[in-house]
Amino acid sequence: MAYTGSMLMVVAPSGAGKSSLVNALLEKDPDIGLSVSFTTRAPRPGEVNGREYNFLTEQEFLKRKDAGDFLEWANVHGNYYGTSKSWIESQMKNGKDVILEIDWQGARQVQQLIPQAIWIFILPPSIQTLEDRLRKRAQDDEATIQKRVAAAKDELAHVAEANYLVVNDNFEQALSDLNQVVLASRLRTGPQLARQHQLAKELGAIGGAN
Ligand code: 5GP
Repeated sequence: MAYTGSMLMVVAPSGAGKSSLVNALLEKDPDIGLSVSFTTRAPRPGEVNGREYNFLTEQEFLKRKDAGDFLEWANVHGNYYGTSKSWIESQMKNGKDVILEIDWQGARQVQQLIPQAIWIFILPPSIQTLEDRLRKRAQDDEATIQKRVAAAKDELAHVAEANYLVVNDNFEQALSDLNQVVLASRLRTGPQLARQHQLAKELGAIGGAN
């Protein structure tokens, strides 16, 4: 299917500032639709069902998975996460840009299914900064923090699979970088030829003239 919208996948270890960046991008560019994933993990304080995630029991999740409702799904640290296939398809059919906040396992699946999907990896400026951010964020004990740091390193082992790398050292710079990737994605030849069909025909660029 020829999609004119961009499919953007943002992947990052926890503590890289992914959600803040994505939220700021969506504020700047409200035409991008954010995919609200399904998950079996318990809601955190302040999270609202249908906003951050659609929260499901494991049984409900597995039923949907078996019915083929997910574009991709993964088990991340003991909880299931999945992207709604029907929501993505409806957005893409209407030429809307979509953004997915998923882990590397999901991004790899989507990349195989939809080769034009764009994988953006958000990097912390150093492992020390990542650790500091994880420490500041949660009142977790040292063992939990170390577990998160180890998980972050696992995620970072997949950096080379991404199409774009954005280093989140300075927030405004990282946001601008992310925005530029989105803008450039809209100018890719495939979607542009679909949008500018008439012009391309007139110019003899497509459609048989010479
Ligand atoms: P958290 O529970 O902290 O919100 O997310 C944990 C991890 O799961 C993050 O890396 C997040 O990007 C990832 N994640 C969230 N939704 C999905 C999804 O639909 N699919 C996949 N594969 N990963 C997801």
